[in-house]
Formats: sequence, C-alpha cells, structure tokens
Amino acid sequence: MRIILLGAPGSGKSTQGDLITGKFGFPKISSGDLLRRAVKDNTPLGKDVEAVMKRGDLVSDHVVIEMIKERIEKDDCQQGYILDGFPRTLSQALVLEKMSPEKAEIVIGIHLDDSVVIDRISARRICSGCNHIFNLLSKSPEHRQICEDCGGTLIQRPDDKPEVIKDRLKVYHEQQDALVEFYKEKNVYTCVEGDADRDDIFVNICSLLDRIIENAMGADGVL
Ligand code: ADP
Repeated sequence: MRIILLGAPGSGKSTQGDLITGKFGFPKISSGDLLRRAVKDNTPLGKDVEAVMKRGDLVSDHVVIEMIKERIEKDDCQQGYILDGFPRTLSQALVLEKMSPEKAEIVIGIHLDDSVVIDRISARRICSGCNHIFNLLSKSPEHRQICEDCGGTLIQRPDDKPEVIKDRLKVYHEQQDALVEFYKEKNVYTCVEGDADRDDIFVNICSLLDRIIENAMGADGVL
C-alpha cells in the first residue's frame, strides 16, 4: 500500500501524513525531513543540498531517488508507507513506479490557494529539537518561541522566509500539473480541500483510505 500526498508547501501534507501514520500505522517518509536531517547532521549529502534547499530549488532527482529507495526498502515499509514531498517531478514518479510497483496506491492532492499558502508558511515555525511544526497564528504570545512538547527553540526554516516562498510556489506549479495528470491517468488520484479544519480534512482522507484498503485487502487479510 502506497499513499502519496501531493500539495503545495504548507498545504498540510506533513500534518495529514502524521495523522494517517497514527491511525493506520504506515510510516511517513518525508523527503524534506530526510534532507533537512542530512543538512543538520552535516553529512556529505547534507553539504551538497544545503544551498539548493535554502534557495527553494529542487534537489537533483538522482539524489532524492536514491535516498527514498533506501528508505522504502526498510522492513517497516513492507506493509505500506506514506510519501510526503516525493515524487515531486514526473521523472521521480516514473522511477518510483519501477522501483516498487504496489498492489494498492492512492494519491491524495491537498488543494490550497497560493494566498493561503503564503499566509500559512510565513507563520510556520519548526522545533529545532523534535521537528514538530507549529503555526504562530494559533499560538499564544508566550508560546511563540518555545516548543510545548520538548522545550526546544522554535525556528523559521530558511526556505520559509517570505522571499523564498514565492520561488518555491513557482517551482511547485511548474512540476505539479504533469504529476497530477500522470496519476489521474492511472486512476489513483483524488483531491481534498486543504483550507479546512485539520480534523475535517482527516475524516475525508480516512474515508478514502478505508475504501481503498478494503478493496486491496486479500482474503488472507494482507495488503
Ligand atoms: P515543502 O513541501 O514545505 O516545500 P519539503 O519539506 O517537502 O517542503 O521540502 C523542502 C525542500 O527540500 C524543497 O524545497 C527541495 O529543495 C527539497 N526537496 C524535498 N523533496 C524533494 C524532491 N522530491 N525532489 C527534489 N527536491 C526535494
């Protein structure tokens, strides 16, 4: 079972991915998180990609593809996995098909207007300790600098700065149509509205997933 989350930066892919993991148990694989971890740990890969990410450009396909391939081959992905941020280009999608043809696949696009994306991302902060994501608009002033979960300092991702967000959106729109077309042709694409309450969006996603899991489940109860 492969669940692919598509959507603009800040559309809520990561939040919904975590909720899906919580309910269905499939691990969430976020290409952005893996890359940011490599940058933080100062690995050779991290050193290579840091400047590209800061600009809001895409990391080269072969680097991301190798990283994802290694991750989905791990044991915890054998029943299924959720992809957040990958594939982001048509060529990544084509390679993904080849590296792991899945029995069941669903692609969920989360739709959000650009103006809402810009507002949301400008207010997004990430905990430097546990990576939890917060939105300043929904936090009281005394909690705007420190993570309520682990006490870590909240920081703004360098690529969440207003001057970079517009470039990221441009890159997103350049790639997105071809990806959506590809998955529509495969008959696996569904879109949900992202400008809604997070729990309401999750209810919509759950009903999609319940249906597809039921259809894909063999008589042996295996996906
Ligand atoms: P968002 O969805 O909020 O834009 P991500 O955390 O998914 O942010 O990605 C952050 C950055 O990591 C991207 O701007 C890009 O530089 C890099 N990146 C993540 N996933 C990919 C990918 N599949 N292909 C190329 N670059 C990627």
